[in-house]
Amino acid sequence: MLKINTNYDNLKESYLFSEIAKRVAAFAEANPDANIIRLGIGDVTLPLCGEVIKALHSAVDEMADGKTFKGYGPEQGHLFLREAIQNYYKKHNVSIETSEIFISDGAKSDVGNILDIFDKDNVVLVPDPVYPVYVDTNIMHGRKTIFMNATGENGFLPLPDSSVKCDIIYLCSPNNPTGATYNRTQLKAWVDYAKANGAVILFDSAYEAFVEDAELPRSIFEIEGAKECAIEFCSFSKTAGFTGVRLGYTVVPAALLGGKLNKMWLRRQSTKFNGASYIVQKGGAAIFTEEGQKQVMANIKIYKENAKVITKTFDALGIEYTGGKNSPYIWFKCPNNMKSWDFFDLLLTKAQVVGTPGAGFGNNGEGWFRLTAFNTLEKTQEAMKRFEALLKA
Ligand SMILES: *Cc1c(COP(=O)(O)O)cnc(C)c1O
Repeated sequence: MLKINTNYDNLKESYLFSEIAKRVAAFAEANPDANIIRLGIGDVTLPLCGEVIKALHSAVDEMADGKTFKGYGPEQGHLFLREAIQNYYKKHNVSIETSEIFISDGAKSDVGNILDIFDKDNVVLVPDPVYPVYVDTNIMHGRKTIFMNATGENGFLPLPDSSVKCDIIYLCSPNNPTGATYNRTQLKAWVDYAKANGAVILFDSAYEAFVEDAELPRSIFEIEGAKECAIEFCSFSKTAGFTGVRLGYTVVPAALLGGKLNKMWLRRQSTKFNGASYIVQKGGAAIFTEEGQKQVMANIKIYKENAKVITKTFDALGIEYTGGKNSPYIWFKCPNNMKSWDFFDLLLTKAQVVGTPGAGFGNNGEGWFRLTAFNTLEKTQEAMKRFEALLKA
């Protein structure tokens, strides 16, 4: 008789975004003239840059000609793209081999799929609040998850506790949802802890392109010893607006368990994955050209201007927050010690501004709130005017 994976019964229903949609729809229906501004957007909004579009078009034309048509490519990704990524790391003083880079259709798939190469009996350490994918993918395998507290006191950057024993550690920096970014000393503490405990760090670097402070690391491999204990996940989604195009990459160093994990991941990918689309990989390679980098960074700058509008308002109002500078997210303490959902309702009904209640990302998110920099400058400015008026009323 068929047995299903009953671990799925242990998943909590995710109410966050459906509940937000429900409350906004109800408000809009009761107030048809309301001019609602959405600062809860967790997706990029600017179109792909010109260099990417050019490369995509030209790759489509290659597919139309028998002489340049491409079928299956290498499961690990085309070498032209892996070399472009290798050079990108070199610019940040990290040297990796193309055999350590694996191209995929995005970071979310890899973050979930990587668990295939680890035993079910590992203990997993996850920050709270957190990107829900880390927790749910482990529940699906029936793995034990423990939490570490990310709070206002530690700037939402928890550090290792030597009394806690774990085998798999998730770090996301710059962080979604808090925008907080680890510095080198803090990441070194994690690398040292992982090595002392024989643990692996799964480092989600999806927002590395937003890091602007030169002293902050973009890659965990900037930290000495990290190649012996970390796997890094990157994405073209937030960097270059590829959320609907789909492309990412994962670095599994050869130094991890003497090459064992790199070999296992190659085996896993070549068995269950047939490579990302050639056309999309051509589009992705275009972002690493000089002109491509300029265009991609110009788009990121637009989001950062929006973030600045938000953080300036918070500075003026004396609101405690993290993020904004090295991240598209601004995470702040709800005024007057309000709870996340109460503040959501207040902001929606009194200012017609939509954000994301921090409580939806974990217990420690209660009393906190996330705004994003993905709307337009004009709407972000208008939203902040209303925010200010609301707090001063
Ligand atoms: C958006 C995001 C990703 C990117 O996922 P893709 O599958 O590459 O689009 C990964 N991790 C975090 C924390 C994110 O917010």
